[in-house]
Amino acid sequence: MRVLFASPEIYPLAKTGGLADVSAGLPKSLAKLDVDMHLLLPGYPSAIEAAENKSIEVEFGDFMGAGPLRLVSARTPDARLPIWLADCPPLFRRPGSPYQDRDRQDWPDNARRFAVFNHVAARLSRGHFLGDWRADIVHANDWPTGLVPAILAETPGQRPATVFTIHNLAYQGLFPPALYPQLGLPDEAFNPDGLEFHGKISFLKAGIRYSDRLTTVSPTYAREILTADYGCGLEGLLQRRARDLVGILNGADYEIWDPSRDVHLPNNFSLEDIAGKRACKTALQEEFGFEANLEVPLIIFISRITDQKMADVVAAALPEVIGDGALCVLLGDGERHLEEQFEAAALRYPGRIAFRVGYEEPLAHRIVAGGDILLHPARYEPCGLTQLYAMRYGTLPVVRSTGGLRDTVVDATDDTLSRGTATGFMFEGVTGDDMVRCVERALGLYRQPLDWRKVQRQAMAQHFGWEEPARRYLALYRSLVPQADAASKPDPEAAEVARAAG
Ligand code: ADP
Repeated sequence: MRVLFASPEIYPLAKTGGLADVSAGLPKSLAKLDVDMHLLLPGYPSAIEAAENKSIEVEFGDFMGAGPLRLVSARTPDARLPIWLADCPPLFRRPGSPYQDRDRQDWPDNARRFAVFNHVAARLSRGHFLGDWRADIVHANDWPTGLVPAILAETPGQRPATVFTIHNLAYQGLFPPALYPQLGLPDEAFNPDGLEFHGKISFLKAGIRYSDRLTTVSPTYAREILTADYGCGLEGLLQRRARDLVGILNGADYEIWDPSRDVHLPNNFSLEDIAGKRACKTALQEEFGFEANLEVPLIIFISRITDQKMADVVAAALPEVIGDGALCVLLGDGERHLEEQFEAAALRYPGRIAFRVGYEEPLAHRIVAGGDILLHPARYEPCGLTQLYAMRYGTLPVVRSTGGLRDTVVDATDDTLSRGTATGFMFEGVTGDDMVRCVERALGLYRQPLDWRKVQRQAMAQHFGWEEPARRYLALYRSLVPQADAASKPDPEAAEVARAAG
């Protein structure tokens, strides 16, 4: 089974959110199941720099009028999965994030950038670039790869089967119709039955409309997106495709997010020996200029600062969140006006609220380890990974009852507490009051250390590894190409490294 896994971000080569973690963890686990996984990522500067064993596989003087293109064959650091980087310097060798410049403005040529990337994926998967490798399946992820299934379906020739995973339906890759001629697709595809969405080009709609199978990242989100409340205008199309849509819960990569061997922590700890968590908490309090005090509950928030994550509600409710006793550490970046509100709260409550604006991976680990309570509200949440990491680190999540949050956290009620199944706290509404009342419930339990420890142990014992989701993706691939296994030649190095790593 040969799979080309195309993604706009893959940890640790390029990351802006959970998609990068998934694009690393899922392929690694599929490689352990002897699938011949090949990753494809645009050749961002960070990716070219961090990828290992690089060699140039194919070179074009010009690709689709976008400039020179080199297909760089490499290995990912650590997992050593085979990866191709689509190195087209005029499109991808830029400072900033995969989607935005340093001032957080979308690159004006994003339609063109990702269309070219999608054509590379399609041609590579068909064996047009390399004589000896073609894909049985192309697995595309989110709008930046949404055109891949459309290109494969709308251009003549044999094609691999296609799977498209929706990690976030709200980011749709919408562009003005005037850009359509740059996309390299037939004119006929630009209509409401194709990839047109209310007069615009929609990369996401293309992925949903043309792929053979659709997945999303939790069972609850798979149901939610069929409704007008969560469907972002695509619910009609999704309903028509509901038989091909399945929700497979994301996993956590416990090789990276494991408090017993996390290299970013001042002290390691585990379910069996949790003492080190106290040292992590003290170190975190000191790092943020708080008085070191193990008794005081420490609430953390690590998130993109956006409406999705209810950052507006959090900003407004911060004084009530800390109440008269708690501390709060916030890390994130996103909408500037919300960042400013977080900054103002930190200035108003020095020694109680601290805010670090930015994206810092090692700091995220230290905060998850040092916190007591993770504040993770969301208007919608396809899966959410931070709550999975927090549970493993004994930091109990306060989440809104939506999407993957609902599928992964068990609310502490009288019933679940007495049965010993509680792992966190959940609220329904989207107001500050709803959230604050839930935080107060969490703080109430925190004041009962014996009960708190029980819930903490239960949360730490949860296992959301990638093994089970990977088996489900493999079953999905097999349903599309049942004949592929016999011809499979798994990559021996990736399978070996994956197995050795456990
Ligand atoms: P989303 O993909 O919607 O942003 P997820 O919960 O699926 O949310 O994944 C978020 C990922 O990004 C997690 O790995 C989390 O630790 C990380 N993260 C979010 N914000 C930051 C930040 N400011 N610094 C470091 N890591 C962050």
